[in-house]
Amino acid sequence: MATLSPHLKQATPVVAERGEGVHLFDDAGGRWLDFTAGIGVTSTGHCHPKVVAAAQEQVGRLIHGQYTTIMHRPLQQLTERLGEVLPEHLDSLFFSNSGSEAAEAAVRLARQATGKPNIIAFHGGFHGRTMGAASLTTSGTKIRAGFSPLMGGVVVAPFPDADHYGWDQETTTDFALKELDRLFATVTSPDDTAAMIIEPVLGEGGYMPANTRFLQGLRERADRHGVLLILDEVQTGWGRTGAFWGKDHFGVEADIMMTAKGLASGFPLSGIAATSEIMARAWPGSQGGTYGANAVACAAALATLDVIEEEGLVANAAGRGARLREGLEAVAAETAAISDVRGLGLMQGNQFRDADGEPDGATAAAVQQEAARRGLLLLTCGPWGQVVRFIPALVVDDDAVDEALGIWREAV
Ligand code: PLP
Repeated sequence: MATLSPHLKQATPVVAERGEGVHLFDDAGGRWLDFTAGIGVTSTGHCHPKVVAAAQEQVGRLIHGQYTTIMHRPLQQLTERLGEVLPEHLDSLFFSNSGSEAAEAAVRLARQATGKPNIIAFHGGFHGRTMGAASLTTSGTKIRAGFSPLMGGVVVAPFPDADHYGWDQETTTDFALKELDRLFATVTSPDDTAAMIIEPVLGEGGYMPANTRFLQGLRERADRHGVLLILDEVQTGWGRTGAFWGKDHFGVEADIMMTAKGLASGFPLSGIAATSEIMARAWPGSQGGTYGANAVACAAALATLDVIEEEGLVANAAGRGARLREGLEAVAAETAAISDVRGLGLMQGNQFRDADGEPDGATAAAVQQEAARRGLLLLTCGPWGQVVRFIPALVVDDDAVDEALGIWREAV
């Protein structure tokens, strides 16, 4: 029998047979509390009946109608509905299948729209694993090592990571903005810079929210310098943080916004939204792909939006997120091993440090495995794998949060 390649080796002990809500059931009848949600994808829970029904219905009608040649009903409807949840000025859309492709599309569009080459990315950012997206990514060397030469023209600026620098947030933010100004003055002048790209909350880089002053500072510099601001909302969008978009916590607006993950409850679908003025600069044929805006994925996205609205999932993410956060902080207060609990809504991370104060990926992995042994599936993140993250489906209720916290306390 063939084996899986190393990167496909499962991190958790589950051979999933079926999923329902926040639970997975394995082929031996075991029940698992899934606080990974397919890495923040199954926003409405596993196999939400409305999403299943919409996808099944669409499969019988039209599976694929390549959208640069044929418009189909689910895409037409999704485009209309997205207009209701997107910022008004981002009135033009392009669809693909994954977050990485959205990053590629955003960068290609920024270069097309401005005619300028360079992109500023921020330290700890994760934008995907394709060559362009990996070039923007500094959440860990495993994404980059061995793949050089990566895409040129990427300049990395500091993220206001107070935990890393050991300063307070104000000092760290001052430093990060000053360094950005220095990069504009010494490395990549505004005349050479197409865009800045940032996640409102660092995801793979360690579940670290940015802050309002920093993001507003980026917006102000983008306007002053004629540089576009790309917000990567792949992980933070669709209610994950307790607001519909991560950016809503900070009152900042993008020129180009990326989305994927929770968008279609598990069907591959991603997209970028931009002003029509910017999108018009993408010449025909330059952006595209065979599978983007697949009809079944679009039908699932429409059902996902219905469920989010009908079941109040954005508010649920805020409410259950607060309960989760409180419980995680209580556990952290009982141990010196967890130095920080951070995140927004249902995107919460626990950072592990050793006795010398160094990031402790080994303990984080051990606790993750111990939680799995007790039936709770979790993921790690951060450059050293030192953060254990909780990212359940947005349908999670108080009982599931409390059950997860009970297991977490025992595992820690
Ligand atoms: N951007 C962010 C913020 C992400 O979290 C991810 C994936 O985790 C990506 C981009 C890449 O998405 P994908 O794995 O779908 O290519």
